[in-house]
Amino acid sequence: MGGFLSQLTGSFSTSAAQNPTVAIMEAAYAEAGLDIRYINCEVPAERLGDAVRGAIGMDWLGFNCSIPHKVSILAHLDELAPSAEIIGAVNCVINRDGHLTGENTDGQGFVNALRDLVDPAGKSVVILGAGGAARAIAVETALAGAAHITIVNRSLQRGTELAQLVDSRTPAICDFVVWDGTYVVRTETDIVVNATSIGFHPSVDTPAIDDDSLQPHMLVADVVANPPMTRFLQRAEARGCTVLPGLGMLVNQALTNARLWTGRELSASVMRQALEANL
Ligand code: NDP
Repeated sequence: MGGFLSQLTGSFSTSAAQNPTVAIMEAAYAEAGLDIRYINCEVPAERLGDAVRGAIGMDWLGFNCSIPHKVSILAHLDELAPSAEIIGAVNCVINRDGHLTGENTDGQGFVNALRDLVDPAGKSVVILGAGGAARAIAVETALAGAAHITIVNRSLQRGTELAQLVDSRTPAICDFVVWDGTYVVRTETDIVVNATSIGFHPSVDTPAIDDDSLQPHMLVADVVANPPMTRFLQRAEARGCTVLPGLGMLVNQALTNARLWTGRELSASVMRQALEANL
């Protein structure tokens, strides 16, 4: 490298303007002395193929894809990482001389953040939600050795499908509970994850969980990163639970993306500061 030629990474999504990952990545690249850029690109569904060919043409290191491309990107890839193949969605693409590999770092980011507090191996896990984030978290937590996973979701079909996927494609035992009232967390549960969008700023809604069933031996995590301390986590903390905010997942996901693209371990603390400054 050197001179005036930066290496390129970025994100393809719509709408792209509110995605804070650019602030995290550029701060961490700069701190590591890397001449790499991260560019948010506004890419509507019908132009994904053009964007991918552009990235290959310009020899990008790789890119993230977000809404609405996480599933449709699969048609453009040469290879899938094992967990991305099970999840059926990709949020991180690595380009090696035009050969594109898809990874799903949403779930990896969650598990890496979780491991700083508790090892999921052998644990009993409740996941609220069955959308994209829940799917990535359920599969990756199961592959990390969780013994038992319960999917709790409002829509029966999405919940059943996810539970069957995890049960059939991973070593974990997985069941489904339809969420049609206040959910009571069983006492043998070790980890509770809100993987729904409930509580995302500016909403102050909070998942329908019986507060009394949250106990101090439980770790309670939220995927919602804004606000960092959701009302759900505040409720859990008041009950004596250890809490894991969604910022941890976001930062760990960015660390994993950077590792896959550059082979380098970037600074988690620089990423976290950049994220907090931009939320
Ligand atoms: P999806 O739209 O794919 O799924 C949303 C899920 O939330 C579904 O299970 C849906 O249930 C459930 N849900 C939404 N509203 C309600 C409600 N009022 N009551 C009960 N259930 C509800 O979204 P994603 O999975 O892509 O994203 C979910 C959240 O995760 C978002 O807030 C996103 O920002 C966050 N996220 C955070 C990341 C991080 O790094 N921190 C990474 C990726 C995502 P149903 O199936 O019944 O509709």
